[in-house]
Amino acid sequence: MKELIYLDNNATTKIMDEVWDAMVPYFIHNYANASSVYHSMGREANGAIEKARLQVARSLNCQPKEIFFNSGATESINTVLKGIYKNYKSKGNHIITVKTEHKAVLETLLQLEKEGALVTYLDVDHTGKIDLSVLEEHITAQTILVCIMAANNETGYIHPIQEIATLCKDKDCLYFCDATQYIGKIPLNLAHIPIDILCLSAHKLHGPKGIGALFIRRKSKPIQISALITGGGQENGFRAGTYNVPNIVGLGSAITHIQHHERDFEHTIQLREYLENALSKIPATYIHAKTASRLPNTTSICFKHLLASELMTHCPQLALSSGSACVSGTRDPSHVLLAMGVSKEDALATVRFSISRLTTKEEVETTTRLITEAVTKIRQNSPIWQLFQAGLIT
Ligand code: PLP
Repeated sequence: MKELIYLDNNATTKIMDEVWDAMVPYFIHNYANASSVYHSMGREANGAIEKARLQVARSLNCQPKEIFFNSGATESINTVLKGIYKNYKSKGNHIITVKTEHKAVLETLLQLEKEGALVTYLDVDHTGKIDLSVLEEHITAQTILVCIMAANNETGYIHPIQEIATLCKDKDCLYFCDATQYIGKIPLNLAHIPIDILCLSAHKLHGPKGIGALFIRRKSKPIQISALITGGGQENGFRAGTYNVPNIVGLGSAITHIQHHERDFEHTIQLREYLENALSKIPATYIHAKTASRLPNTTSICFKHLLASELMTHCPQLALSSGSACVSGTRDPSHVLLAMGVSKEDALATVRFSISRLTTKEEVETTTRLITEAVTKIRQNSPIWQLFQAGLIT
């Protein structure tokens, strides 16, 4: 089988060799339960967890006590939204979010609405940007949480998290930032940005799947979030369940190693520029949020008058994602693109390319050639394309 060209790094990333090497001993040599502190193997495993906690804290510039391990961003999002609502609903039932958030946020908030939460879903413009003055207007005495991601997984759009965090702080309202796509691509310093709660996931930064970290800022008035999973009292009673030591070690190692690359986007930016310039030469093609501040590795491109699913089927050598979610075998247009005012047809004609530091120039060149050939071929046989060329549709 020919090597696949992997440009789906916002979905998940390849584990780094250094990360894998750090994890292996905790599968085969030290397999102890990190809570078994009455023998040396257990204590050593516990020490490895605390080292990883320190590594995560150092990379974000926060205290180790502010870091809690769990299974990933989906769990963090559920813990925070449900935990905040439970503890603060007597103060107010209002939560603010954005229409372009990840489904983990939107589906959880939908559940909370059924329990009495009042949720404001902020609109975005054609680039994915919110109006900060509208956010400010919506924050009232009843608002218990603002939940806005750092960077969008589909378009790479980066929200102004510094301004959002400062606004929430001034308004005395908690700010939860889903930084799952941001961490590992851009440095973030929690000593400078007053984010209250933040989540990240190891598999987006060349670490293992099924492990993530939740940052909860220590404040004079402690933030109250109840445990979602109760049991053996791990993580100070905040997240029960036997510690996944190899994965936690992998997260600590990945976040430490990725820092060296976060400061060096040049390679990724150059590859994306090449990809965008080459693919923009295909007629009736445009890039979503092109003029906005975006993650350096992401580009979301609409090839009008075709189906992204068909395009990807024509390119089995490429690992890409569409701007749609596959739900029960049917393709729904992306809620992110629809919120940005993109038509259903254009959303279904959109492909996401997400590069990583491992992507090579040759891979990007081959990708542009294969995509250009496939688009041309699909359109040659398309009655809709002929109508477009005849000027009968736009
Ligand atoms: N939030 C964002 C922005 C994401 O991109 C993802 C994963 O795609 C998640 C949350 C969920 O992450 P996890 O796989 O760690 O549950």
